[in-house]
Parts: sequence; structure tokens; C-alpha cells
Amino acid sequence: MFDLLITNGTLVTAEMTVQADLGVINGKVAAVLTPGTPCETQERLDAAGCYVLPGAIDAHVHLHMRTANGYTADDWRTGTTAAALGGVTAVVDFVETTPGESLQDALGRRLEETREAVIDFGLHMTIQPDEDPHPQTGFMRRVSDARLAQISAASEAGCVTFKLYMAYPGLQVRDGDLLRAMCAIREVNGLACIHAENGELIEVLRQAAGRAGESLHDTILHARTRPTMNEYEACTRAVTCAALSGSRILIFHIGCAAAAQVVAGARQRGLPNVFGETCPQYLALTEDALKGSTGCRWICAPPLRPQADQDAMWRLLTSHVLDIISTDHCPFTLAQKDEGSDDFRLVPGGVPGIETRLGLMHELGVRRGRLSLNDWVRLCCTRPAELTGLVSKGRIAPGYDADLVVFDPALHKSLEASELHSAIDWSAYEGMTCTGWPRDVVSRGELIVRQQRFVGHTGRGHFVRRAIELQ
Ligand SMILES: [Zn+2]
Repeated sequence: MFDLLITNGTLVTAEMTVQADLGVINGKVAAVLTPGTPCETQERLDAAGCYVLPGAIDAHVHLHMRTANGYTADDWRTGTTAAALGGVTAVVDFVETTPGESLQDALGRRLEETREAVIDFGLHMTIQPDEDPHPQTGFMRRVSDARLAQISAASEAGCVTFKLYMAYPGLQVRDGDLLRAMCAIREVNGLACIHAENGELIEVLRQAAGRAGESLHDTILHARTRPTMNEYEACTRAVTCAALSGSRILIFHIGCAAAAQVVAGARQRGLPNVFGETCPQYLALTEDALKGSTGCRWICAPPLRPQADQDAMWRLLTSHVLDIISTDHCPFTLAQKDEGSDDFRLVPGGVPGIETRLGLMHELGVRRGRLSLNDWVRLCCTRPAELTGLVSKGRIAPGYDADLVVFDPALHKSLEASELHSAIDWSAYEGMTCTGWPRDVVSRGELIVRQQRFVGHTGRGHFVRRAIELQ
């Protein structure tokens, strides 16, 4: 007797596409069955004409994150509800420390903020510089030994992935600290997630942009002051530290061919522990979005790039150089974005996307012949779970969480803001339409989206203690 039986669907996994029925007991996948196998069940879901996928995993989101321009617009309820409606059954967000706070204390404080999550989630730990500048030299702050010593307790608490910034004053770590942190992360079999841009060079270019008589209103300057060479250079440094430490690293939000080639080169030189992430904004948009009067909306870092880079990203997805697609969902309202309309340097950086990834990648990838159905599931569901240590998710097999999406390839969905559920008043993909969208979503055996309506309850999401099982 099953709790839930999903019948008549086409099962799509990272490896295969097959007609199968699925039985669920106690929140877990219990059986993958030949279609039409007679079974008793409490509830039955007919997936005829639809794909049945593992729930999508978004390994990079920023809900209720404090910034200089206020908090990101989605809280844990609105953000995870929008995610669920887009076929996402788990997200990984971040923990940031305040001065003097330990990683464990920051985790406890962050967990308080997640109480209204409607889907499961993990948390990356951000390792920030925490020591005062050197008293004699005034040299940049560094990461203390005490901070690095907290990595093992964070790992035991289920946070095995650690964010390190190579850009942004106040957040960026020095090269030596990058290496020290990676050595500590390696000790716990963790994953270092890297924001790879050369922060010092960016600050010089941004200051120069103001002096050269250019209009700071012109948002294309955002891309010009964060050139691809600068991203390439930082990726190379990150890979050097990965080689020296032996740590597993994931370079976040790769949007240009130059940076991706660093990952490809690392693999060729026998560094299998270097991984790459890209995001839908780099696959669907180009820097042209920064050129119009509404350019400030599309300010994110690294910036959107020219068409040739976008084309390269698509090729690198199928050649396995880029391992996962995450959103870097970082939503700001138009009012927040407009606070910087006179100076591109004051615009809060980030674009939304938590709800649109699976449908958009089906539209632009699968339907346009750039990804197979199995690539799509590998990049959006299975590989993100493996790399971030969500070991009970990302696959459809007995014993795995019954986190499932019934994706109807015939549904039409407009990506206007009015059709989406993030707590913002604009969409990064206005004017675009998808054929194919998640119809029903199951989280740990419970239907939380039925016929594109959210039917789950606030606060049902669990914090997941993660452990990476890659060799
Ligand atoms: Zn981010």
C-alpha cells in the first residue's frame, strides 16, 4: 500500500528516460514500477503526457540577506514558495557572520530566520576576514586561526560548503587566507565555493570610471569595470589554491568563456576537484540588457557578458566543464534598484530567478536542442545535490526523498512579474514565454504544488544536514 502513486508519466533522470510509475511511502521513493502495475495507494497522481523528474535543487540563493541597500526582497516564505512553484524542492542559502560572532552562533541566528521555509534547505557558511588590520602596516584584514578552527564544528552541524569571496571590500579574503581556508575545508571533506573576481583591480577600475568624465548613470560601465580578464585571473588563483590544498572547489556564477576555460584547463591538468557553476542569466541574457535606461535592474556580479560568451556557456554545459546551473537569486525591488540610478556603483547587485530556472532551461536548452532532457536534469537536479552534499535528494531511486516534479511540456507560461511569485515588482525575463512548466511538485511525499497552485504550508521545510559523498 503506497501513500502516493504517480502513474503514466515519463521518468526523466540524469541517466535515462523511461516510462514508469512511482510509489511513495513515508516521504521516500519506495518503488519504480512497470507502467500499469496494479497497486493499492492512498492517493494517485496521473502524470500522463508529463515528465517526472527529481525535484530541482538550487545551490545558490540569497533570501532575506542583509546588504547596504536593505534586505533582499524575498523572505524565506515568499522565496521558497516561488521556488516550489518553479519545481525546486531544496535550496542552499548562506550564513554570514557579524563581527565577533562564531560560525555556530551565526548558524543558530540564521536558522531562526528560516522558520517559514516551505521546502528543505541547506546553508553555506561564509568565511569572511575577521581580524583587525595589521597595526603597523594597516594591511588588509585576515581570517583568524580561531575562525578556521570553527570549520570542523560547522561541518559537524551539517554545513560542509563554505563561501569565499575574492572581491568586495570587507568580504574578500587575501590569497594566503584563501589557501588556509581551503586546507581547513579539505580536512572536513568539504567544498569551497568561490566568488572569483579580482576585487582590488575592480575597485581601481570603478574609481577610475568616475574620473574619466563618463556618466555614472550609464550602467554598461558595470560590465566595463569588471572585465573578463579580471575574472579569468581570479579563477586561476582559486585553482592554484585548490591544487596546493587538495580541496574540492566550485567556482560560482561563471558567465564568460575565459573563466570557464580555467576550469577546463584544471581538469586537463589532472585536477578533478575543480567544478563550475553557471546561472540562467548568463544563458538567457547578454550585456545588452545593461545598455538601456532600465539597465540597473540587470546589475549583478560577475556582470552579464556579450553573446559570444553566452554561446560558449551552452557548449560548456554539455561538455561537462560546467557542472551545475544555480540561480544566485538575489531579488531587489525596482525601488531598491533605483536607489543607484545616478551612479551604477550604488545599485544593489543581483537578479531574481528562483522560480524560472527549470522552465527557462527547458525552453532555451531542451526545446532549442542545446541540452538533452537528461542533461537538463543532471544540471538542475542531480549534480547540484551531489556537489553540495544533499545526499538524500537529486535522484529518483528507492530510499531517496520523494522530492518530485511533474513537468508538463505542453503548459504555456509567461515570465512577466505578474505571473511569478517572488516579492518583487519586475522580472529579469520579461517578454519571454516558456512552453513547458512544473505542474505538480512533491516534497518528501507531500504534494505542495498541485496544478500550478501552492498547497503546502508555511514552515514545513527542514534544515538538511549535508555530507559530501563524492570520492
Ligand atoms: Zn551569490
